[in-house]
Amino acid sequence: MSGGVQITKMGMKIYNSLSRQLEDFVPLNPEQVSIYSCGPTVYDYIHMGNARTALVTDIIRRYLMYKGYNVKLVQNLTDIDDKIINRAAELGVSAKQLASENGEAFFQDSQRLGIHPADVHPKATEHIPEMIDLIQTLLDKGAAYVIDGSVYYRVNQFAEYGKLSNRKPEDLLAGARVEVDERKEDPRDFDMWKAAKPGEPSWESPWGKGRPGWHIECSAMAMKHLGETIDIHAGGEDLQFPHHENEIAQSELATGATFARYWMHIAFLKIDGTRMGKSEQNFILLRDALDNYPTEVIRHFLISAHYRHPLDYNQESLTKSAGALRRLNNCLDALKEYDQSVETNGTTATPLQHTVQEMKAQFTQAMDTDFNTAQALGAIFTLVGEVNKSLTNVGEKTDPAFAQAYQTLLETCQVLGIYGTDTQESDDHNVEQRDQLVQLLLEIRQDARERKDWETSDKIRDRLKELNIEIKDTREGATWKIVA
Ligand code: AMP
Ligand code: ZN
Repeated sequence: MSGGVQITKMGMKIYNSLSRQLEDFVPLNPEQVSIYSCGPTVYDYIHMGNARTALVTDIIRRYLMYKGYNVKLVQNLTDIDDKIINRAAELGVSAKQLASENGEAFFQDSQRLGIHPADVHPKATEHIPEMIDLIQTLLDKGAAYVIDGSVYYRVNQFAEYGKLSNRKPEDLLAGARVEVDERKEDPRDFDMWKAAKPGEPSWESPWGKGRPGWHIECSAMAMKHLGETIDIHAGGEDLQFPHHENEIAQSELATGATFARYWMHIAFLKIDGTRMGKSEQNFILLRDALDNYPTEVIRHFLISAHYRHPLDYNQESLTKSAGALRRLNNCLDALKEYDQSVETNGTTATPLQHTVQEMKAQFTQAMDTDFNTAQALGAIFTLVGEVNKSLTNVGEKTDPAFAQAYQTLLETCQVLGIYGTDTQESDDHNVEQRDQLVQLLLEIRQDARERKDWETSDKIRDRLKELNIEIKDTREGATWKIVA
């Protein structure tokens, strides 16, 4: 490690929404941290608000790995839900097709933002048996009841209901009344299994055909892939109630174990002071933002505020992030030539060496304290400023601190993913361009054949063959494939 600051697993604190306090972070298994993050409902492309939540999870994972932990991250895809069914009906496609297309788009967009895929991306529709088992367990315990093929959770069976959202029973009742269902025993009760309505996708169950409720999906998938107790459960702040409250109620009543040890809720990305959201119609799609700004600029912007503080989307902030990234890139470009280990005599550190050490300590301190990315960026840019000053001081160019500064900046920027992010975008772009060029050659060859210009036609076929691209003439026209 550069800069003389040792990275250890010690010292991390996380603000736990459950205790409403900053707590020391001690994972259940000292070697591996388990994280479950509520993923998107795939009825549309993701917007910048969804991206904030996904990016914070990515950074939590990157930082834990930097600290020396193994991390197992599970992020679900909700691929069956009212919104999906309604949107699919509007578009005249099946719910399955809509969810599958938007699921793919989600992976593409996340990758363009430099977010590594989770270790598991479970889909709700692929975990119906696990959900049915969990519902059955709750029925067996008297914590659920069936009405007309739907199964409801009996909230009064779980004494701790409300502990996450810190709501009193009266508040919970007020909230629940919005959605009146006379058949429920208690307005707070919620459905875990919905009896099938005509024309909707459905699955067989002991209670007849139907589909799962949203909350049971996450309980079942989290427990299947991470066990009864997980370390960190993350999601946007809108999910704290009722979604996460209900996940706790289902899981803890079924197993008797703590469901999640640290609950993290990410504050909203706003636009003109209101939450960015699909229903608010004020959203900027992540893919559109990525067409206008480099990955690193968008990442910088999305982590420029601490994750528990709201962040406002506006042009000015993105322009500021672009400016900051330019300074960072210029500094790293200038430092590149110093990237060789420089022997230090071990006795006297230069002022810039002190700054590097201090910066690394500040970065770690900021990230250790509930992943304070805003302060971590502050530490990085303070060092950038100091390096730039020293670089203009001709006499100091032999300072070994330059190599250390370079290494430290690389290391810390990689944790945040704001430098040299491998998004695979350029690879994808190259492949797309190759495909278009081959297609163009096939068209030219077709024209030649129509003119009976066999020489040109054969030349194109033979030269492509040399490039390992094989053309086959079929009745429907020429096709091509890559051969080894
Ligand atoms: P959804 O597709 O609406 O279920 O949302 C997927 C994830 O994005 C959830 O964790 C939400 O809490 C989160 N989310 C939605 N809107 C925003 C927003 N404006 N800012 C931050 N996170 C959001
Ligand atoms: Zn969830």
